[in-house]
Amino acid sequence: MPLSVSSVIALRAQHAAWRAEGQRIGFVPTMGALHEGHLSLVRLLKAKADRVTASIFVNPRQFAAHEDLDAYPRDLAGDFAKLADAGCDLIFTPERAAMYPQGFATSVQVGGVSEGLESSARPHFFGGVATVVAKLLLQTQPHCAAFGEKDYQQLLVVRALARDLDFPVEILAGPTLREADGLAMSSRNAYLSTAQRAIAPHLHGQLQSCAARIRARQAITPALRLAEAALIKAGFDQVDYIALRGPEDLAPLPGPTLDRPARLLAAVKLGATRLIDNIAVEAAA
Ligand code: AMP
Repeated sequence: MPLSVSSVIALRAQHAAWRAEGQRIGFVPTMGALHEGHLSLVRLLKAKADRVTASIFVNPRQFAAHEDLDAYPRDLAGDFAKLADAGCDLIFTPERAAMYPQGFATSVQVGGVSEGLESSARPHFFGGVATVVAKLLLQTQPHCAAFGEKDYQQLLVVRALARDLDFPVEILAGPTLREADGLAMSSRNAYLSTAQRAIAPHLHGQLQSCAARIRARQAITPALRLAEAALIKAGFDQVDYIALRGPEDLAPLPGPTLDRPARLLAAVKLGATRLIDNIAVEAAA
């Protein structure tokens, strides 16, 4: 079983001991309810570091009042077993009151890549993410930390945070792990009813069809509108966005057709559940 700590003092003591032995430390922050996507990040770090620490913390500051903080799936015993299996060395499970004690008044705001897309529907989100990631990176002080491409805008926000504030950490990206039918693995997939679960893979399917059209030099805007209509037809209740952006800065592309590598990103709602996904779109040779 991996070691487990819930205080920053104990976390720092263990990491100091490893560093004193010259060991490289990799870190993966999670909100628990772990699946293969999370575990793939542990495995990615196992190949890059001598020791891997994972945190499990459902961060209240990235949920708005009307969102699913209380309902967010929790399975600490299952998470420990999965992390042990993946070769994780240390599990950090801070208490909410220790992360955000009475009087906590600091917020980290990343500009640029955090604007638009997710922020349009969830304006509070990246402030909460950047604040907790900054705290966790300062608490753990890892050599490298891994984040999933599944949350592509978040990955770019974390990269910007680390770059702009000179965090001495290498940010690694792991590819999106998917179910056999293409649905991106997500802790929130547990919310889906059987009927909704049957609709959900169409998100990835429509991203792929849309990307194929854009790669074939069809005009970008009509291809996006076609995909949006197809998502509603497939049974999604709402399309928050489907957008083609620059893969590094998330800037809109000049168009009208693809002339450079891009990222296709979408967010949809299925009942009360919000799903996001994204894929790379390379210009055909
Ligand atoms: P979460 O627990 O949802 O906050 O996610 C923790 C980390 O796991 C983040 O860096 C996510 O991007 C990553 N992650 C979540 N789902 C997947 C997936 N399907 N494939 C790869 N990484 C993922």
